[in-house]
Amino acid sequence: MRDPMSQLRRTSYALPSGSSPNVRLIHDPEPLVPPSADQKDAPSFDPAPRTSDDSPASLGGRATSLADLYSANTPDAFWKLLIKPEISPSEWSGAVSVARAILPDVGQSSSDISHIVADVLGEAGFGPNRWQLSPSKRSYYRVKTLVPHRLRVILRQLYRRRQETHFSLNWPIEDRYARFLSACVDQVLAQRGLDTVPYVGFWPDSRVAALVLTHDVEDEHGAAFVPVIADLEETLGFRSVFNFVPERYAVDPDLLTDLRQRGFEIGLHDLKHDGKLFLSRKMFEERATGINRYARQWGASGFRAPFMHRNPEWLQALEVEYDLSFFDTDPYEPMPGGTMSLWPFFLGHFVELPYTLVQDHTLLVILRETTPRIWLEKARFVEQMKGMVLVNSHPDYLQVPAHFQVYRAFLEEMKVRGPFWHALPREVARWWRQRAALQPAYRDGAWDLSELPGATVDHALASCQ
Ligand SMILES: [Zn+2]
Repeated sequence: MRDPMSQLRRTSYALPSGSSPNVRLIHDPEPLVPPSADQKDAPSFDPAPRTSDDSPASLGGRATSLADLYSANTPDAFWKLLIKPEISPSEWSGAVSVARAILPDVGQSSSDISHIVADVLGEAGFGPNRWQLSPSKRSYYRVKTLVPHRLRVILRQLYRRRQETHFSLNWPIEDRYARFLSACVDQVLAQRGLDTVPYVGFWPDSRVAALVLTHDVEDEHGAAFVPVIADLEETLGFRSVFNFVPERYAVDPDLLTDLRQRGFEIGLHDLKHDGKLFLSRKMFEERATGINRYARQWGASGFRAPFMHRNPEWLQALEVEYDLSFFDTDPYEPMPGGTMSLWPFFLGHFVELPYTLVQDHTLLVILRETTPRIWLEKARFVEQMKGMVLVNSHPDYLQVPAHFQVYRAFLEEMKVRGPFWHALPREVARWWRQRAALQPAYRDGAWDLSELPGATVDHALASCQ
């Protein structure tokens, strides 16, 4: 097996020569698997909080602080190393104390592992007010729907340079959290004098990476184009989730039934998509009641916020299995930021699935790309990291023939790469939760992972110092 860890050791990622000026690192640092039959069934969600006795906070218990929301994502829990005797808390602490130097300043404020991880995944580097829109942006989103789309695009293109200049993460590839996680294992191996260590593979059946397709359906024009996207994906052997807005346009129940029967997933995208969901916590919680009602009605397991507005604590009011409102790195959103994670992670009671490829509107309209090159290059990087390739595109924007061709070309290329674990987001969320709960048995000198079908033993190698 190729050593994926060697890729994690790079100090920077250089795009191939010939990249357009649009594609640059901001702050350059110095066989597809068809969905199984049971995916077609509406999932049952049990919103009742589990007790903290049988699971950490992020696996269902009540989180009491922002840091608690991220407490199930320690390097120990991420890797699930298969080693006897187990790596002790003090060994992990020693490893993290060295590896943390890779992280931005954000990870330096505490020696506590949970706090370091919460700083990274919680985007602490973007300041204490990172979950609040500025007054000017709040005003803009109050009237956004009145601004002609063409003018909005021009404004965003003008704003683009400022967003890039003031962005503190790398884009499109931010590898520091991945390198941090790898360095933690390096340090553990050094402490034990080992060259390699087995761990529970990130994805089922030894797949190199996960591939997840998601769509937000913005308005009725997008909804009318959903069947075309579904046909394209089905023809190529893919399935995806379509996230609809329940109270902005009429959602055809026959369309939802047809999509479900064909193996697609239905999700929720806001309630009204009017820019007001996050204007206050009171507003959010009132609307969360409606969102939860539609989630039950539609059998939806997941949610994505409008405009990538997000607040980890407020989002806990949603009765969902997973959320899609975060991303690894993105300077172009109204709330720029990034969790730096190329993998799912636990966020309070649900699993977060951050998008790791730039959104279609940014790629095709703001950056004016005419090919899927940035998507494919980033996907290659995520694959090398054994991460999750997750793309968010919109039937609304893919109606433009040139955009549709870019999406088609992306899918055609991904079809021959891999083998990925191509899965619906609810499958990925469930897998990540099951992998976390797995307690490998050590019998007669070997590890038994049979408790979790599909789980396999992978190996992390020490870096060459
Ligand atoms: Zn939207």
